[in-house]
Amino acid sequence: MNLLSQIELKTKKGKGKCVYAKRNFNAGEFVLIFQGDELKTVMGHHTLQIGSHEHLLIYEPQRYVNHSCNPNCGIKGRAILVAMRPIKKGEEITFDYAMTEERCFGWQCLCGSRNCRGKITGFRGLPENFKKRYEGFISDYLLQKAAKH
Ligand SMILES: [Zn+2]
Repeated sequence: MNLLSQIELKTKKGKGKCVYAKRNFNAGEFVLIFQGDELKTVMGHHTLQIGSHEHLLIYEPQRYVNHSCNPNCGIKGRAILVAMRPIKKGEEITFDYAMTEERCFGWQCLCGSRNCRGKITGFRGLPENFKKRYEGFISDYLLQKAAKH
């Protein structure tokens, strides 16, 4: 599948580069795969956690998919982004970084959604009601770890 028939990169005032839907998506539909170089270091900007000690340094344009506390996409497997609900052409593509990151940063969240948590949290800091809402859209390694506890 051609990535550029799915999404496009645009600059949004005050937010920098953002990824937008280039067509309509149905709920559950494949949007993109996060691809990049595997790192054994800690998380950082433009990384996606795929294991307890593994991160991908994401290539463009996927690295510009922003966090939202009210995302329209979620994670399947370890790095596949799928639509959680119908997405209209031109909508910004977002997911919740807690779907892939075990711990977070504590960066201030600027998503502006009504249910914004104020800070970007990892899965460990994710409130139970969010975990429920994101069921089926959480990275495999996080589910495997959670099942062990
Ligand atoms: Zn937020």
